[in-house]
Amino acid sequence: MIKEAVILGAGLGSRLKEKTVAMPKGFLELGGKAIVEWSVQKLLACGVERVIIGTGHCHEYYDELAKKYPAVKTVFNAGFASAGSMGTLAVCAPCVTADFFLLESDLIYDAAGLFVLDNESRKNVVLASGATYSGDEVYLEAPEGALRALSKNKNELRSVDGEFTGISRLTPVFLQKLCVYARDNRNTMPKLEYESAIAAVSRKAPHDFPVYVRKIENYAWREIDDAYHLQTAEQDVLPRIIENEECRSVRREVLLNPGPATTSDSVKYAQVCADICPRENEFGDVMAWICDELTLLAADKAAYETVIFGGSGTAADESMISSCVPDDGRLIVINNGSYGERLAKIASVYKLRHTVFESSAYEALDIEKLEYEFKTGRYTHLGIVYHETTTGLLNRIDQIGPLAKKYNIVTIVDAVSAYAGIPMDLEKLGIDFMASTSNKNIQGVAGIGFVICKKNELEKTGAIPMRNYYLNLYDQYAYFLKNRQTRFTPPVQTLYALRQAILETRQETVEGRYARYSECWHILVSAIKKYNLKMLVKEKDQSRLITSIMDPETPHYSFDALHDYACKSGFTIYPGKLGNINTFRIANIGAIQPSEMRRFAELLGGYLESIGWR
Ligand SMILES: *Cc1c(COP(=O)(O)O)cnc(C)c1O
Repeated sequence: MIKEAVILGAGLGSRLKEKTVAMPKGFLELGGKAIVEWSVQKLLACGVERVIIGTGHCHEYYDELAKKYPAVKTVFNAGFASAGSMGTLAVCAPCVTADFFLLESDLIYDAAGLFVLDNESRKNVVLASGATYSGDEVYLEAPEGALRALSKNKNELRSVDGEFTGISRLTPVFLQKLCVYARDNRNTMPKLEYESAIAAVSRKAPHDFPVYVRKIENYAWREIDDAYHLQTAEQDVLPRIIENEECRSVRREVLLNPGPATTSDSVKYAQVCADICPRENEFGDVMAWICDELTLLAADKAAYETVIFGGSGTAADESMISSCVPDDGRLIVINNGSYGERLAKIASVYKLRHTVFESSAYEALDIEKLEYEFKTGRYTHLGIVYHETTTGLLNRIDQIGPLAKKYNIVTIVDAVSAYAGIPMDLEKLGIDFMASTSNKNIQGVAGIGFVICKKNELEKTGAIPMRNYYLNLYDQYAYFLKNRQTRFTPPVQTLYALRQAILETRQETVEGRYARYSECWHILVSAIKKYNLKMLVKEKDQSRLITSIMDPETPHYSFDALHDYACKSGFTIYPGKLGNINTFRIANIGAIQPSEMRRFAELLGGYLESIGWR
């Protein structure tokens, strides 16, 4: 799996004349977007964690781009005006830590090329295409697929086996060789281009450093060096690329149910990868990275640790409750919805000493009353749901968590439907254990439950005799710490999807995600008001992630009819979950856009009109 990329973006682009006098070539726009931004987005969608851009001419443009994409890091080549592209690559080299994609900044290309190179079993590979007739081709001589030479002049080659696209995958070791070659030939070749260096190094040591050519005959790509390229790129190549990529898009279903949530296509596609034994180091690294990143979204890595299980969110809940409360402890569980009830149920299945604190399912809980319970000194542990998905009620963890800490109570929080959608800092909130899942606000696919644990509290649970085997939190933690493997087979492909979902969360940030979710919620709430519908929970007590709407009081209303009506347009909605009050729920979590919520609001209006409500 390729996790890094280098984009060479220092050049002057002088053949585009006035267009690139005050701007790097990568910022030429095609289809309303800078070509380098297309490239960065494709790299991120392909699972790249870090994009290093070598800059020179008008580098501020790239520095601005880096502010928009946290995964982008710019490296300035001060000698750009007198150096060739190899000089810029050499300046980027110290930042490269793993196998990487190497690209030029002035390329548009079909993302399939990245997928193909990522799936190569060979280490150093350049991507080639059939004839493009672009007028500025670099031809490859590659008998039997191994690179021998490359040139803009066909006559210099013994055979023409393809065109160089400007997309490669290389190892850090090979990169070092390139840098040494450039240094050794600095005097004779001050303007060395990186592709010439690649050909020279592989020619000199074809057995130690073979470079292979992977050719896709009809590959859609274009390098933009002059006005003619720009014109053909816009008229011919970009439409082909967009069409190819559209052909690979997955049917859009907007899930407005409270999880599993809608995922991006890149998350779905991340599951399509080479088979790997999860006991290999490479997969251990992926899992360790996932655990660290899940922690970092809500806490400090020095004090907290994430433990993952194959299982749904309830597996994570069960793991926490069954593993953290000692026999002589006592748990107080807040029940103000079905998920709180579920925590209490788990406590009773394991016959833990516990008390259930009942509170309204749709009104904010009485914190003074809760403190009165804390004051009795009977409780060692608190079990509470952060966001009651049953109704959309948000519990005030910001007040309750610190209050529990004041009474030395260990806090166990089901944040399954809050984590990664609501910004949180576990330390500040006084949370010791927090459960969530891969398929809600983190926007991955279903199959992984995880617990983020305060390390010192987790260590203490090692002394509690195991009440179960698979779900024991401490055992899972200790085994992974020692072996970088989970005790039992993890859902491998689901973890690759989660990795991609985390990358996309890092790009959006949890704050940004909360803002997008809130925008969708505002759209929904204004529609609810416009249609004279009523909400179950007061606006101020809502999470803004899920809204419970009272059924319209007309005999013509039927949830099933509304569900089917919405389904026909690609929206899935969910019934209410309260026994005594008739509601339906609209969740606005997942990879959905405000424009989609607007469409749903209109659809809801259309349905209500059809039953004579409006
Ligand atoms: C979704 C959810 C769960 C877990 O449900 P699963 O079906 O086990 O994934 C637990 N708690 C809350 C608050 C939830 O929203």
